[in-house]
Amino acid sequence: MTNKLKYFIGNWKMFGDFSDFRIVQNINQFSFRTKSSLKKKKIILCIPSTLIHYFNKNLKNKFISLGAQNCHYYQNYGSFTGAVNAKMLKQAGAKYIILGHSENRSDGETNELIKKKIISSLKLKLNIVFCVGETLKERKKKNTFQVIRKQMTKSLIKNFDVNKIIIAYEPVWSIGSNKIPKISDLKKIVKYIKKDVKKALKLKNYPKVLYGGSVNSKNIRLFSSVHELDGFLIGGASRSTKEFIDIIKNYYK
Ligand code: PEP
Repeated sequence: MTNKLKYFIGNWKMFGDFSDFRIVQNINQFSFRTKSSLKKKKIILCIPSTLIHYFNKNLKNKFISLGAQNCHYYQNYGSFTGAVNAKMLKQAGAKYIILGHSENRSDGETNELIKKKIISSLKLKLNIVFCVGETLKERKKKNTFQVIRKQMTKSLIKNFDVNKIIIAYEPVWSIGSNKIPKISDLKKIVKYIKKDVKKALKLKNYPKVLYGGSVNSKNIRLFSSVHELDGFLIGGASRSTKEFIDIIKNYYK
């Protein structure tokens, strides 16, 4: 097992209320207890915007970071009813933001709109978790590489700081389905993303790449042979303290 920093990022989606603060508190405690371990890890929980301020205010000694799940592209205050921008999320206590999630893409979010949100979030110095991934139809047509290449080159900016934007490869067919890609396919895709983005966007270093889609405490060991991965974006399983902590423990077993 490598000693490279690994990310474990939870995506709570549209779930959660104030009583779920105990999940965040328990995961924070776990992170504190294993702080001195040789295994370097970064835990981030991307929670509903309505909870960020409350959780941030009440969490003592933060060993984990909080993040948001989307934002409006407009950087300043404006007449956009119901919208929340990066500035507001930052003020509430978000350090990270998920952008380009397939659940928002399927609601009409385009690569161009995602790019505007990336630019706005970077200006506010938020760290971005940028999601890419093919649908089942695209996969069957063997278009995976083409699709993710387009998503990356249309939304990411040249020369971006690899410490500020992390790419999450999330095949759409794998989200919430209990299906995961073949490990040999995943290796090829992660390598491709790293190489291709570095070249196409003229980066100084390889970008960080996470995997997301039906990760749980039982299948996490399978991913430990993909050394190119920098961590995981975890949806459903991040809503349970035990499951989320078991994912991390089992990964390092
Ligand atoms: C996600 O929605 O980002 C995700 C990875 O979901 P799940 O883990 O539930 O498949």
